[in-house]
Amino acid sequence: MPIQKVLIANRGEIALRIHRACHEMGIKTVAVHSTADSDAMHVRLADQAVCIGPPAAADSYLNIPAIISAAEISGADAIHPGYGFLSENARFAEIVELHNIIWIGPKPEHIRTMGDKVEAKRTAAALGLPLVPGSDGPIESFEEARKIAAETGYPVLIKAASGGGGRGMKVVPDESQLETLIQQAKSEAKSAFGDDTVYMEKYLADPRHIEFQVFGDGNGEAIHVGERDCSLQRRHQKVLEEAPSPVISHAQREEMGMIVAKAMADMSYRGAGTVEFLYEDGQFYFIEMNTRLQVEHPVTEAITGIDLVREQIRIASGLPLSVKQADIEFRGHAIECRINAEDPQSFAPSPGLVTGFHAPGGMHVRVDSGLYAGYRVPPYYDSMIAKLIVYGRDREGCIRRLKRALEEFVITGVKTTIPLHQKLLDQPDFIAGDYTIKWLENWLAKEAAPKDSGE
Ligand code: ADP
Repeated sequence: MPIQKVLIANRGEIALRIHRACHEMGIKTVAVHSTADSDAMHVRLADQAVCIGPPAAADSYLNIPAIISAAEISGADAIHPGYGFLSENARFAEIVELHNIIWIGPKPEHIRTMGDKVEAKRTAAALGLPLVPGSDGPIESFEEARKIAAETGYPVLIKAASGGGGRGMKVVPDESQLETLIQQAKSEAKSAFGDDTVYMEKYLADPRHIEFQVFGDGNGEAIHVGERDCSLQRRHQKVLEEAPSPVISHAQREEMGMIVAKAMADMSYRGAGTVEFLYEDGQFYFIEMNTRLQVEHPVTEAITGIDLVREQIRIASGLPLSVKQADIEFRGHAIECRINAEDPQSFAPSPGLVTGFHAPGGMHVRVDSGLYAGYRVPPYYDSMIAKLIVYGRDREGCIRRLKRALEEFVITGVKTTIPLHQKLLDQPDFIAGDYTIKWLENWLAKEAAPKDSGE
């Protein structure tokens, strides 16, 4: 029996994105929301809505019993978790399946394996993916850490096995600081993730972040849908993403894409996933896999014409992949700007009443956002309020269109990062596609420095 009603266990633009795919497929939707989100667009547009708790995410969007109850009461036969919140919680996926509700996501065991970064690296190595050199597993002793660091060479990076969102990482410049920084990383990991397991990687000096989008049918068939370049980051958080990467050739895409797709086929991966790599001097190094839909998925949709959420729902329904690898074509160029309710200089959050909202339009311009004039951006959640995704026949045309779209975009009442994106698009390095994961922070530091008046 096909899926008839999907409960969307999320909020904001991604809840809306999933709702849209469902309605286009003739599937009804159930929104869940906190008391802070009663007026949210995803709640207004859904066929049904259930309040699942107070504003704090721990009591609402992360409240498993409340979400399962909402699914039972509303008669939803499937749950889509979106990204963030419970999307990579293997236990939640298991509980959903135990209740005979379809989980629109990967198999719980794959979520669990990839959620533990040490296990993820072991699995990736076994599947033949290239890794960043470092410890084969958790760091058990300082002596062992000292030996591995000496072999890989400094600087090294200490990372939390349960880490995420760029948190829980420490760069160790030389041996004198190794012990102290391991201790610090462990105690921070313990308090942030409840797990003090840490591992070590060589700290790559100046890589790009390039990730491959994959889909598996769960029975040994898998495809890749190309790469995205997400090197423009602030505090390890992506700010702007593009596809294809300005530095990857067609041959490299084919080669690496096939390696990744084969790895997914070999593990009988099910659903959407993203395999993330650092890329330096022509080499890819696996860092982690995200077992969910990504914020930046629309750039892939723009250059392939494939609706990734529809594909997720089809796979969860037990249907085969809708496209074959040989039929996937990559055309043109797409860029996404993440627009946050933040001060564009200090990045301080700027929640509050949206007094005016006008989204840009025109050919190949897509805005994914739950905003409207009169909406109040709540202070409790992530500050991303809109995504602007623009397509062009080539990168140059895409950048020109993106500038035009940003000029048209009006959001008043809250501060936004639109001016930051406008400045960024004028930078010669960006225009040349010449940037790495350090570029944005270096540029921001230069922008913030007091200007020499020249007198
Ligand atoms: P998280 O799950 O917290 O996002 P990742 O392993 O995906 O952690 O790393 C996040 C970011 O941190 C990467 O995109 C990159 O910018 C940086 N990073 C991670 N590992 C390394 C490394 N070995 N060398 C240099 N930078 C790294």
